[in-house]
Amino acid sequence: PFDVLIVGGGPAGSSAAVYAARKGLRTGVVAERFGGQLLDTMGIENLISNPYTEGPKLAAELESNVRDHDVEVITAQRAERLEAADSAGGLHTIALESGAALQSRSIILATGARWRKIDVPGEAEYANRGVAYCPHCDGPLYKGKRTAVIGGGNSGVEAAIDLAGIVDHVTLIEFDHQLRADEVLQAKLRSLPNVTIITSAMTTEVVGDGKKVTSLVYRDRNDDSEHTVELEGIFVQIGLLPNTEWLDGTIALSKHNEIEIDSHGATSIPGVFAAGDCTTVPFKQIVVSMGAGSTAMLSAFDHLIRTSDA
Ligand code: FAD
Repeated sequence: PFDVLIVGGGPAGSSAAVYAARKGLRTGVVAERFGGQLLDTMGIENLISNPYTEGPKLAAELESNVRDHDVEVITAQRAERLEAADSAGGLHTIALESGAALQSRSIILATGARWRKIDVPGEAEYANRGVAYCPHCDGPLYKGKRTAVIGGGNSGVEAAIDLAGIVDHVTLIEFDHQLRADEVLQAKLRSLPNVTIITSAMTTEVVGDGKKVTSLVYRDRNDDSEHTVELEGIFVQIGLLPNTEWLDGTIALSKHNEIEIDSHGATSIPGVFAAGDCTTVPFKQIVVSMGAGSTAMLSAFDHLIRTSDA
């Protein structure tokens, strides 16, 4: 069995793996896709040690750094069940979809999240070429340009306020007849001169010129009329879905299905820790996930030295 088994090979899982190996622990990583969301990311300008890098490059560097340590890396495998140890200091089991089962004295869950898509023609084609999901990451790329935010909940309205300070103009598009964000955020949004708010609007298409986005088409749900908004960038803010479906019923999850953690990365199960975008951590970013991976791993180490009989 492992001392530490990490589920997920994104920034959080990679960080936990390097920290674990450097403590001399028997360490395993099981990941469906090593690199996680980085594989879908183009430019990264907020990795503090680099002014610019690209997602696939960072993913390859993380994987090679993890493999340079004494870590058993198992990729292209999905975890489908967690069975918690029945005694303190006992072995936890991670069952894989392939039928295999891995045992470990501690577990770090780092399965990340995925952005909810609008699922309209053009969205996938223009991802990273005008369609974006993270205003903290990509907002500055649209300096002086016209953008839209799709989604009028707290994250959409926060994104629109954030972008309004950087870009030329923001059109906020909400499907419902009213915004759903907190009133204080809505008031702030309405006070901004370069924001247009459109409600009862269903986005139907992302249009581009083959290279990048040029406009967005929406249908007014009141009268079924079609409208085009010319712009350079579209931020989709209709939800971040944690990859925790497989844990439902075994561990405490928030109402948004995030794994509940404390400041040590501890979950509701002793010996099981979690880090990164799959957790209740308030901000979902690469550097935040890397830090959380090391926090969870140092807490796992603490747990191991307290429960070890050796
Ligand atoms: P992830 O990166 O999501 O990794 C999760 C890992 O778990 C993967 O290896 C996955 O295969 C694995 N996994 C999931 N479920 C299972 C399972 N059941 N069994 C086994 N393995 C599983 N952040 C920034 O800081 N700067 C940016 O510029 C930036 N740009 C972004 C651009 C895009 C398009 C996207 C999508 C995200 C961007 N982010 C950016 C956010 C950043 O990528 C995430 O915050 C970060 O990757 C989270 O790391 P993580 O390790 O928690 O999860």
